[in-house]
Amino acid sequence: MRIFDSHVHSSNSPDAESSVMLLCEQAVAAGLSGFCVTDHCELEEYESGQFAERISQSIFDVGKAAKVFQGRLTLHTGVEISGVHHRPELARQVAGRPFDMILLSVHNDEDGTDIFYHPFDRWTPQEIDRYLTYYFTSLLRSMQLGEFDVVAHLTYPIRYITGRHKIPVDLGRYSDLTDAILRLAAQEGKGLEINTSGLSGPLADTMPPAPYIRRFRELGGEFVTIGSDSHQIHTLGAGFDQARQILADAGFGSYTFYRERHPLLIQIEEKGVVNV
Ligand SMILES: [Zn+2]
Ligand SMILES: [Zn+2]
Repeated sequence: MRIFDSHVHSSNSPDAESSVMLLCEQAVAAGLSGFCVTDHCELEEYESGQFAERISQSIFDVGKAAKVFQGRLTLHTGVEISGVHHRPELARQVAGRPFDMILLSVHNDEDGTDIFYHPFDRWTPQEIDRYLTYYFTSLLRSMQLGEFDVVAHLTYPIRYITGRHKIPVDLGRYSDLTDAILRLAAQEGKGLEINTSGLSGPLADTMPPAPYIRRFRELGGEFVTIGSDSHQIHTLGAGFDQARQILADAGFGSYTFYRERHPLLIQIEEKGVVNV
């Protein structure tokens, strides 16, 4: 199957180090047909984190690398935007930049702190319930407010609560909210991401897990992207075999990538043979 990785961070993200050019070198070596650079845009920290400048540099770097790697690699501009429910006007302004694809995320708690930094002893059952309700509600609100193409890593808090801190969570309790998210995405022709970054870590699963991809299909969803969420070069294109299997099991015959904000399909077949 042709591999187009729709979620990759470059050194223009605060938590990643590789230049776009280095990512391209690695992508060619790993046999990818292309990828989308989706550097972070945290709206709650937009000014202090210099995200306007970071986005400009990301778009510039992609344009430059696309010329160097022309004919060998398809390279797209993107962004991973978080905090839309806090700053919808700014989100619309950012969405006006020349992106091929906009990923929609919720990374932060109500007070703007990243869930990444929450310590184990904070996660009481009540706090887990409060946070997950906040997370899913904020994501739904962000979908209603902002311009975007794809819902990124649905069930993201599980990477930390269950993956890092080993606290099991019954996500079925939130099925009303997750169904509302998947239904809205399906109805509006938006995409859902299979984020493979958890497969090789302690979570050992995709975000969202396979049942949510099946449910998205049941609700009429058509577009599913695959993203490694790479912050380092060696994970580019990781987990595509597992993602392909999840898609096939859910009844999808293709997966999606975006060019100029329009979905394009890559066919999948049983033996992983490419049909474009
Ligand atoms: Zn993210
Ligand atoms: Zn990311």
